[in-house]
Amino acid sequence: MAIDLLRLPTDSIVRPDKDRFLNEENPFEAMMSRFDRAAELLDLEPGIYKILRNPEKQLIVSVPVMMDNGDVEVFTGYRVLYNTSRGPAKGGIRFDLNVTLEEVKALAAWMTWKCAVVNLPFGGAKGGVICDPLSMSVGELERVTRRYTKGIISLLGPDTDVPAPDVNTNERVMAWLMDTYSMHVGRTENAVTTGKPVEMGGSLGRKEATGRGCMLVTKEALTHLGMDLNGATIAVQGFGNVGSIAARLMAQQGAKVIGISDRAGAFYNAKGIDIDAAIKHVQQHRSLEGFTGGDAIDAEELLTLEVDVLVPAALENVITTKNAPRIRAKVICEGANGPTTAAADPILDEKGIFVIPDILANAGGVTVSYFEWVQDRMGYFWSEAIVNERLGDIMTRSFGDVLQLSKQHRVNMRTAAYMLSISRVATVHRLRGIYA
Ligand code: GLU
Repeated sequence: MAIDLLRLPTDSIVRPDKDRFLNEENPFEAMMSRFDRAAELLDLEPGIYKILRNPEKQLIVSVPVMMDNGDVEVFTGYRVLYNTSRGPAKGGIRFDLNVTLEEVKALAAWMTWKCAVVNLPFGGAKGGVICDPLSMSVGELERVTRRYTKGIISLLGPDTDVPAPDVNTNERVMAWLMDTYSMHVGRTENAVTTGKPVEMGGSLGRKEATGRGCMLVTKEALTHLGMDLNGATIAVQGFGNVGSIAARLMAQQGAKVIGISDRAGAFYNAKGIDIDAAIKHVQQHRSLEGFTGGDAIDAEELLTLEVDVLVPAALENVITTKNAPRIRAKVICEGANGPTTAAADPILDEKGIFVIPDILANAGGVTVSYFEWVQDRMGYFWSEAIVNERLGDIMTRSFGDVLQLSKQHRVNMRTAAYMLSISRVATVHRLRGIYA
């Protein structure tokens, strides 16, 4: 008897709750509303729909830390493994005062779709600690990292859950995490995390990878629209690792970055901002505060500048129903995770704005994380040229896959990206079946 590998038994198709997308605050709802739309178009059977709506594991840990002044603080940390059907869970850890479980769940789901859209053999995860790293000393940061790592150590491992940097964490934090894990298992285990310093198993090109991926897909999008990155005007919201590197690489391709912003302020220069000078300023002053390479403008104004490409590269829920009607960019490249609320999507569609969705646009980071994990496991390291070439292949191919699906189903790039990734995850669930 032929076994139908492609579908689980089903009696009715998915009918998602259409009102869910009205919530512009909760990122998990924003993720779910996009998921629902793609699930409906894919005619996803209820069994798989139910499985994919729920995170596999959610761990909440208390993180007691002795502060420099002798007081004990107790922080709260999360790690969510959303789905591991395609491979070990993969996703960053953020340190931020605004971290919530709902946010970490959404980010873990986004990692699942992101890894699948670029076809990496990983599932999705995310972690976070509610804390203000900017007000902490290096010693306090190290103790938070180590105690949090110990708290979630039952999940971690190169075959189970592999963290990486995210908002307010970096290669130094990953080095402490790797050391803490290695001390507990009694051997040096490089592949337990990615985004490490190059001197200790990190990959060349990893730090620049997310910004490079943004530049590559923007180039593809502009070519598709009959435009050129060379000479295009750009505004970048968020000038951290992703935004600053994307700006620099786009400028190197001949683009004119006329607006940049971070939490300290927004700056405009019609002649083009000197991105290297801006990066140097941030290295010296920790933010753009006091930057003189452009006129200070309002943060909201930056989002509505008349540009070819807008790159939101900071946090969630930046493009909302309130400002979407005023956005004048032709292309939006979502360097951040979840920068656009689900309710704002139809407004951007109506205006004919071509949105490169986060799960595709910022997938360069996790793609080179995958390369780092592979190199660590082989113990054989690649040149930066090879890393960049392979990253270029994956980003260009993935952009093409999503674009083709969007034309085929007459849907926007976001829905097409969700359809592609959900169908890949769903296929693995069908093939593996349900363990009983
Ligand atoms: N934090 C990054 C992201 O959101 C990288 C994750 C990773 O490399 O695992 O994509």
